[in-house]
Amino acid sequence: MYDPASGRAEEFINHQEIQDSIQYAKENKHNRKLIESLLVKARDLKGLNHREALLLLECEEQDLVERMFHLAQEIKQRFYGNRIVMFAPLYLSNYCVNGCTYCPYHARNRHIARKKLTQEEIRREVIALQDMGHKRLALETGEDPVNAPLEYVLESIETIYGIHHKNGSIRRVNVNIAATTVENYRKLKDAGIGTYILFQETYHKEHYEELHPAGPKHDYAYHTEAMDRAMTGGIDDVGIGVLFGLNHYRYDFTGLLMHAEHLEAAFGVGPHTISLPRIRNADDIDASAFTDAVSDELFARITAVIRIAVPYTGMIISTRESRKTREKVLKLGVSQLSGGSRTTVGGYAEEEPAEENSAQFDVSDTRTLDEVVNWLLELEMIPSFCTACYREGRTGDRFMKLVKSGQIANCCQPNALMTLKEYLMDYASEDTRRKGELLIEKELKKVSSDRIREIAERNLKEIEHGKRDFRF
Ligand code: SF4
Repeated sequence: MYDPASGRAEEFINHQEIQDSIQYAKENKHNRKLIESLLVKARDLKGLNHREALLLLECEEQDLVERMFHLAQEIKQRFYGNRIVMFAPLYLSNYCVNGCTYCPYHARNRHIARKKLTQEEIRREVIALQDMGHKRLALETGEDPVNAPLEYVLESIETIYGIHHKNGSIRRVNVNIAATTVENYRKLKDAGIGTYILFQETYHKEHYEELHPAGPKHDYAYHTEAMDRAMTGGIDDVGIGVLFGLNHYRYDFTGLLMHAEHLEAAFGVGPHTISLPRIRNADDIDASAFTDAVSDELFARITAVIRIAVPYTGMIISTRESRKTREKVLKLGVSQLSGGSRTTVGGYAEEEPAEENSAQFDVSDTRTLDEVVNWLLELEMIPSFCTACYREGRTGDRFMKLVKSGQIANCCQPNALMTLKEYLMDYASEDTRRKGELLIEKELKKVSSDRIREIAERNLKEIEHGKRDFRF
């Protein structure tokens, strides 16, 4: 039976409820009155449930689809303004005992280069990332209790937080590692992680088991209930996602929103972020072999409807996507972007030799961080290196309250501008600096509180004189 508050995967991601929702959306996709009423309801910014959202996604009436895109843009502006939070992935190890059929790290792949960074190598990678200007990392590892146990991840986090090179520091480490126990999540929380990220890949149990034929990840319920254990272990901010292309999008889109509803119902706070990866080619993986590909057009609609359904949740897009696709979905709701990424184990301090390949997927957007920042500035968006909420303890429901209060303009906006200023002073090319200064001048006017704007102006001057790390 469907029960969003249940702790059992089969009840909060209930197969029958998903099938019924798909049927409901198909039956009503030409019901203009109903769809219009949902668009009106969504204007209240309280979101939509999975069934309502699927109906919007299913709608083919062109004028209504256009209204959806406009609404998504409005919601994005209302809660996130034109700020885009920047981050980079850091792959620590690609040893893996699982058999995922879409990932080149699967245990049976004998020709991929297997690597695990030593603490000294991590230091070099982090210094290279700091020298690019990054302040926020997402750590990635395959699942291997011998080669990359939790202790290794904890030690690596400590190493990363301890590195301060010139004006650089990593201020928030998000972690994307395999599903684990409450006790281990508690240890990750104690190590000071930001968001714990785990993709479901697909919510369809049967397909999930086929796609994960071997290893601990084969256990659908253990994987699907991981966020419950993470939250029980004290982690407030969790990030969910599916790998679009593995399974039919309607099913996974619905499951994704049901997962968000479950976290809200069971823990009082939904996911901090939703990631939107699409399957890509990699070492021995041919993405075209997966027949449920999501077109660019559909991908944009999925982004827009998720923005409408969960207005307060951050949305992430990686360098799996091309510049063109990223540009389109940025406007529709995406709030976090990776830049200058390497998906190899290491590769920031030194390029991986051509004969080796330890990458998890081929990168589509290969631009440097400065090129991405420059491009965002041209689009009149604010690249933000802010990590203030996490460092001020505004996580979980405290973060959500801030977003819902609308005070974000007096908090995130000046924080974004101050961290951008740091980037411009320390790392930017001349052209990027010039564009960034103009944008800061313009965007500062949008801080509605006179007091906060004055403090921000003062801090921006202090940054010019060498001071760092101001935040509201
Ligand atoms: S997706 Fe994760 S668990 Fe699966 S093979 Fe790749 S690294 Fe291992």
